[in-house]
Parts: sequence; structure tokens; C-alpha cells
Amino acid sequence: MNRKTLPADLKRRILVEAGHRCAIPTCRFPTTEVAHIIPYSKVKKHEYHNLIALCPNCHTRFDNGEIDEKSMRIYKNKLVFLSDRYSPYELNVLQYLRKQNKVIIYGSLSVKNIMDDNLVKNAHTITQFNYNDGTNELQEFVVVLTDIGQEFMRKWIDPLNTDLTYDN
Ligand SMILES: [Zn+2]
Repeated sequence: MNRKTLPADLKRRILVEAGHRCAIPTCRFPTTEVAHIIPYSKVKKHEYHNLIALCPNCHTRFDNGEIDEKSMRIYKNKLVFLSDRYSPYELNVLQYLRKQNKVIIYGSLSVKNIMDDNLVKNAHTITQFNYNDGTNELQEFVVVLTDIGQEFMRKWIDPLNTDLTYDN
């Protein structure tokens, strides 16, 4: 079976997210290794949310089962929250979408990152201004969670909410 190469851009993004250090906060040993949280043999693809920077020692401990998958998700989730990937506004939008199936957004730039990562999509426009010169401007639109977004919430946000808080 062919294993696809991890794209250089994605690998860089994972390493930058963790500052080129092990993602386990008490370790933080310098590294350039990236691990799949759910094994590649199961998912057969390289996805941002399933990849984490680990030092060789922690990588081995994870492979041995000494550190389990759920712990690794918690470490990854902390990185997602700690890195400036998603703004507090975007995280709030995601939190709202756990309980409501849609949220009204003012301006698409405010949710650019969660849209770029396909966690949410524009369901429909509420208001659109049409100008005399033929241009128009999107003022409000409704976002909903995508399948990827639902998976993200189920795997990354919900397990953590039952176990930990982020206030530290
Ligand atoms: Zn480590």
C-alpha cells in the first residue's frame, strides 16, 4: 500500500503551531517530527487536525500506548486553542454551533480561518446591498457546521469540555 507523502506545507504548519517543539507542554523538547493521532493506516490521509508535533521520545511513548489517543487529542486541542489559528470570535462561533445549527455572521473575514479549514460554510445570505454601479456587498450571512466541522467538534472540542477547562 502506498503511503502518501506528508505535504511540506502541512508539516511546516504543524511544526510552527507547536513552535518546532514537542506539543506535550511539560516536554517541549525541540523536534521536527510529526505524528498522526489516529494512525495513518486507519485514516489513510494527512489532515491538520490529526497531526501533532512530537519529540522522538514522546512519539515512541505514544506508539507504545503509554500515552493514549485521547490524551494526544487533548494536547492537540490545547495547541489549536493556544495558537492564534482561530480567533476568540471564531471559537465562540464554533461553541454556538454546538447548540444551534446556524449562526449569523457579519463579514466573512471574521470567520476566515474556520472557513478556510472547512469547519463552517455559508448557508445563505441574509442581506445584500446592491449599488448603482452594479457591484454588491454581502452584509450578513448564515454559517453552519460542515461535516468536517461536526467531526472537529465531536473529536476535539467535546471530549475536552467534559474533562478540562481552558482557564489555565
Ligand atoms: Zn516530548
